[in-house]
Amino acid sequence: MNHPQSKTILVCLLVAAAIVGAASGYLGWALFAAAIIWIALQNREFNKVQKWTERPLTPPKNGLDGWFELAYEPYRVIQKERERTKDITARLRQIYDLAEVIPDAVIILGPNGEIDSLNSSAKKLLRLNDRDIGLGLSTIVRNPDFVAFLNASSFTDPLEFTSPFDQEQIMEARRFDVGIERKVILVRDITALNRLLTMRQNFVANVSHELRTPLTVVNGYLETMTDNEQPDDLRLSLIAKLDSPMRRMQSLVDDLLLLTQLESSAPMDMEVPIEVGPMLQNAFLEVQGLQTAENQITVRCESAMVINGLTKELHSVCVNLLTNAIRYSPAGKAIEISWVDIDGGARLQVADQGFGIAEEHLHRLTERFYRVDMSGSRSRGGTGLGLAIVKHILRRHGSALKIQSKINVGSKFYCDFKHPDTALTGA
Ligand code: ADP
Repeated sequence: MNHPQSKTILVCLLVAAAIVGAASGYLGWALFAAAIIWIALQNREFNKVQKWTERPLTPPKNGLDGWFELAYEPYRVIQKERERTKDITARLRQIYDLAEVIPDAVIILGPNGEIDSLNSSAKKLLRLNDRDIGLGLSTIVRNPDFVAFLNASSFTDPLEFTSPFDQEQIMEARRFDVGIERKVILVRDITALNRLLTMRQNFVANVSHELRTPLTVVNGYLETMTDNEQPDDLRLSLIAKLDSPMRRMQSLVDDLLLLTQLESSAPMDMEVPIEVGPMLQNAFLEVQGLQTAENQITVRCESAMVINGLTKELHSVCVNLLTNAIRYSPAGKAIEISWVDIDGGARLQVADQGFGIAEEHLHRLTERFYRVDMSGSRSRGGTGLGLAIVKHILRRHGSALKIQSKINVGSKFYCDFKHPDTALTGA
């Protein structure tokens, strides 16, 4: 017993027993009584320590004889472990919170491929729920490629697979093996990315296709022109014929450049007022000069509303819509470009009585190179970019292109502009 207080008590008991024993002549009994008192004291202290161990952990307070001193070391170890556990729990919570905000599905698998834990995105993307914890992932997501990917001995390339729940959704899975015990599976939705890649491939294919036709014509002419065996007058006549395919390539490149510029440039300062009436007249004069098949074009400017924007760009909208109206109307049919008041603003509209467009094409007309009838349209000389350009210009001016059309009745292409001070309600 090293505790000083406990030593003092023991010494006091022995001295008291010695004095009482010497005085009474019963030294043995006195020592025996002292021993009984000492054992009773120890027992009381021991009981206190025992009770202390049964209660929630509190620092041991020193008793008479240092039994609590014995408890102090385990208390310190337990306390340290508790702090460590608290720290680890806080870190785990942080990791858990991070996994929750990740838009990709994160699933941790145990040694037999059973789900150990998963985040919210895994629940959404793979339609899992907490009840699936402990079940094999391959028994729930039953895509054969995905199952093979999970069971493969090692992970090499990410797996692209169609969602078993939605045929339109494309997913990409990655696997990270943590020893042989654990696997981390990451799954993300790449539908939009895939669509973008396909659009890019289609775009390149379309541009090449559009350029190939005039280039083939130019090549053919050049071959004939450089062939000395051909008569001079034929060779000379071909020079004039080069003009049409060259123009076609030029307008395609111009439209592509304009579209790229419109798509990539930041929204501009639109504080320049445009007088719409003169702009419509100018557009009318421009297409009138290009017309080969005569259509009667009328300009109806009834609204005095002035809009802010770039005249050059809105002029190009009018020219594009008028050119299309001419291009897709039989000769002699009337076309009207108008600027009229509507509730809260004004409407710019080009209406024709042409071939019209079937309902199912309407929502795709502003896609680059989308044409209703590829062969027919190309022979009409368009680049397939006109309406895409119109859409972008209107978007920059806070408006949107709307289309109404009926086969063999005609089409209306229109866009509404808010009055500078009023909210547009009836568009
Ligand atoms: P294009 O250069 O081929 O005219 P656009 O982007 O201007 O390209 O138009 C896309 C397609 O929309 C056209 O190919 C045509 O099929 C259809 N279209 C556009 N305007 C009209 C219209 N006024 N009447 C009928 N079809 C039209």
